[in-house]
Amino acid sequence: MKAKLILMMLILAVQFIFAQTAELKGDKVNNKVIKSENEWKKILSPEEYKVLREKGTECAFAGAYIHNPEKGVYECKACGNTLFSSEKKYDSGSGWPSYRTPFSEESVELKIDHSLGMVRTEVICKRCDSHLGHVFTDGPEPTGLRYCINSLALKFKKSK
Ligand SMILES: [Zn+2]
Repeated sequence: MKAKLILMMLILAVQFIFAQTAELKGDKVNNKVIKSENEWKKILSPEEYKVLREKGTECAFAGAYIHNPEKGVYECKACGNTLFSSEKKYDSGSGWPSYRTPFSEESVELKIDHSLGMVRTEVICKRCDSHLGHVFTDGPEPTGLRYCINSLALKFKKSK
């Protein structure tokens, strides 16, 4: 009985050390936020989880930020990374918040997405790899890009 308890504590201690080093590495090397799907489920609502972690898409014209007129920045709902600015937001008429460019080099990463029988470019958060939406090439000049993002993946922070 006692041996079992000691073994258990040893396993817990080792797991703790591994978790700590993983976190340190993440912070130091590339600032990544890495969590298990169970941890994400605890942080996110079921709707947010579906979009961010299962690459879901919210219904068109259903999101909270499509017509948000306020000035500020849009952060990743999962990890808080700054993703887009209201300055680069425009009304695309598509039913989803649309942006001409991301906030910075550290905001997003692009990935080819072959789902639903289409070839699209997926937009993911550079810090936590969560799904945000897609980028299309029918946007306004000068970039010609339309970052089509789910409101559920975003958290708006009003500028002071
Ligand atoms: Zn994120």
